[in-house]
Amino acid sequence: MALYSRLYRTDSFALWRESQDIKVRTRLGGIFYLLAWLLSWAFSIDSAALLGLGGTLFFGVLMLLRWLHQPPGQEDTPGLQRWIDRHWQLLQLTSLGWGLVHAYALWQPAFEPSRMIATLSTIAFSTAMAFNFPMRKHRCMLAMLLLYLPGLTVLALNWAQQEAVLITLLFYLGYLLLALSRSHREYQATLHLEQQLLEQRELYDRLSRTDSLTQLGNRLQFNALFSAMVATARRQGSPLSLVLLDIDFFKRINDQHGHANGDACLQAFAEHMRLVFRRDSDVLLRLGGEEFGVLMPDTPLSQAHEMAERFRRELAEQGFELDGHKLPLTTSVGVGCLEPLRDASAEAFFKRVDDALYRAKSDGRDRLTLALD
Ligand code: GH3
Ligand code: MG
Ligand code: MG
Repeated sequence: MALYSRLYRTDSFALWRESQDIKVRTRLGGIFYLLAWLLSWAFSIDSAALLGLGGTLFFGVLMLLRWLHQPPGQEDTPGLQRWIDRHWQLLQLTSLGWGLVHAYALWQPAFEPSRMIATLSTIAFSTAMAFNFPMRKHRCMLAMLLLYLPGLTVLALNWAQQEAVLITLLFYLGYLLLALSRSHREYQATLHLEQQLLEQRELYDRLSRTDSLTQLGNRLQFNALFSAMVATARRQGSPLSLVLLDIDFFKRINDQHGHANGDACLQAFAEHMRLVFRRDSDVLLRLGGEEFGVLMPDTPLSQAHEMAERFRRELAEQGFELDGHKLPLTTSVGVGCLEPLRDASAEAFFKRVDDALYRAKSDGRDRLTLALD
């Protein structure tokens, strides 16, 4: 199974899956139509060169088109839909072509020696349709009817001599239609299961990167994003700011008011972060215990400074409300912006901001320090 990227949406996944299945299953089909035609023609009496060439050209071109017709990328949902529609047109045209060949072989006395080949090929092609292309039931049915109906019509016109073949083919067509219904259901069920698996994988992936207490990104999320964001900022020459926060004297809250209230305090802190750092591109994180971070792409130091200072000030003003009482709650903050020439690595950049946070702590807490050197 080819892997679908993380950029997945349920509806586009179904189309992508279908296009992949069609692509793989369509490859061989074209060759067999061409071969079946060549055999039918070669074994006919007085094989007419022009007819032979015409048929060969028709099935040869269709075979090539089926090979060359490549689906677009998985994000292009309308493109995928168009591709599937067009490819079905190719399949229908091939089926109609073969249905007419079969009818012609049954009709023309010159093709008498090839009739068995043509009829067997019709059976083989319709069987292959039912089992290889059950994604769209009605389109597949139409293709099968296009394969059968011309031949059946000729047989019906020769009812007196051909009744046995006609009845047998009708029975087989009936069986194939039932088999198609079943393989269609199975295809849909497998698709559904695959979608569920993807959704679950996505969910577990998200959960593993989310801190369950605050719903902010966790350390794993930070590790996954930080170096990539630093690399992007370097490449694009865009400013990437980092804010690190560590709650002051948090241990006291735990000690004096209990761990559960400590947890509530962490949640309130996270909520306050969400109110201040609201840009879609800001990544809010709980890096551990009572340490938090914000990654701010496309944000120069001055802006990050302003936001972080506003956060610190508002937090100090509001404190933490517990049972109607306002407990003091402050944070120390380190803020820095990536300097590509100075910061040799993502780790060096982080350390520069972490050092600033440490200085804010040692300088007396409830303050913001810029990572300038
Ligand atoms: P400082 O101002 O120097 O940062 O002092 P502090 O008390 O905030 O720092 P310290 O590192 O001494 O204590 C952090 C405390 O955070 C200790 C730990 O019990 C508490 N803590 C860590 N994770 C959690 C958590 O998930 N829930 C609760 N309630 N407390 C936590
Ligand atoms: Mg700490
Ligand atoms: Mg602390």
